[in-house]
Amino acid sequence: MQIDPFSIYVHIPFCRSRCSYCAFVTYAGLEACLPAYIDAVEREIEGMGQNASPCSSHTLYLGGGTPSLLSPAQVETLIGACRDHLGLGDGAEITIEANPDTLDEKKSIGYRAAGVNRLSIGVQSTQAEELRLFNRRHTAEQAAEAVQMARTAGFDNISIDLIYGAPRQTRTSWRATLDTVMGWQPEHISLYGLTLEEDTPLAAMVERGELDAPDPDLAADMYEDAQERLSRAGLGQYEISNWTRAGYASRHNRQYWLNRPYLGIGVGAHGSAGGRRMWNVTSIPEYIRRMAEGQARPFPFSPANEDYEEINEGLAKSETMILGLRLVEEGVDRMDYEARFGESIEASFGPVLRELEAGGLIESNSERIRLTRRAYLISNRVLVRFLPD
Ligand code: SF4
Repeated sequence: MQIDPFSIYVHIPFCRSRCSYCAFVTYAGLEACLPAYIDAVEREIEGMGQNASPCSSHTLYLGGGTPSLLSPAQVETLIGACRDHLGLGDGAEITIEANPDTLDEKKSIGYRAAGVNRLSIGVQSTQAEELRLFNRRHTAEQAAEAVQMARTAGFDNISIDLIYGAPRQTRTSWRATLDTVMGWQPEHISLYGLTLEEDTPLAAMVERGELDAPDPDLAADMYEDAQERLSRAGLGQYEISNWTRAGYASRHNRQYWLNRPYLGIGVGAHGSAGGRRMWNVTSIPEYIRRMAEGQARPFPFSPANEDYEEINEGLAKSETMILGLRLVEEGVDRMDYEARFGESIEASFGPVLRELEAGGLIESNSERIRLTRRAYLISNRVLVRFLPD
């Protein structure tokens, strides 16, 4: 049996301050713990590798939080640990997320020299008022400089994250953000449709009536603006929220969308492998303590796991459809599905497929099934139909 190569996600849960919309597992003001945290992460990688039969990995994603708070030497340590213990190969895609205010020329050059070959920059907006509302620490000019520095350092694969559908954002301001960012000629764009997350300052402002709630119709118009402008700039849409120049689709994220195995390392990280989904504790001191005590556990478990769940065959089928249909160009490959589950997609989901096809929301041919363009905007409502009863 062929075993899929793994992807590795390492979570860096440190930020200089909290953005107003953010509900990720991350902490401001704890940067003093970074060296101890990196040691603990290294131990988790090493321990996981010790308990694996030789494993091979083809992508590494340093996400956060703000991974660009790490020094190049710390990044090199983590990449080296993944190469030594988790079979991270020479041709691997290695991504680091960066915030513009934490990137400088020396760091960019250092990351590139350490082996990072893809940079994902959190820009979110180029409009001063929106950046203030989001409590971002950078200006549009700093973001442009960060892209320029990365280019000079040799990065030829740069992704930019943007937010749409936010309060006070207008179609005019959104189009201005898109046009400015397209002027930087990134290889890849990820869009995040703003949702109000519980216990965030932005949600509290809306609750107190200081801000209007996000308007879903306006957000839909902005999504269509993005589709039009990004395509005009030569970026193709390959996933519901992601656009790329040919050849620069995120290999790491594609692993998630293809429902293939990944290891989650670090505070709050989630992994999925061997028919199980596991997640780590969310407290930094608890994580460091657990990794210091280090009770070995069989691969792919780790002493940092808070808990896990079994993914039964029915759920695995549903998730393969729900994630795979997000890939709007390639959709779900019929032969891959049959090879994995020993039955056709029709045998698993016949009635749902017939209904969605009759409603013009999916289309299929002899090779694949995918969403129709009119389903992109209501994808959540469409995809939920594949969940088990
Ligand atoms: S930088 Fe990213 S992870 Fe940190 S608070 Fe802002 S949005 Fe959240």
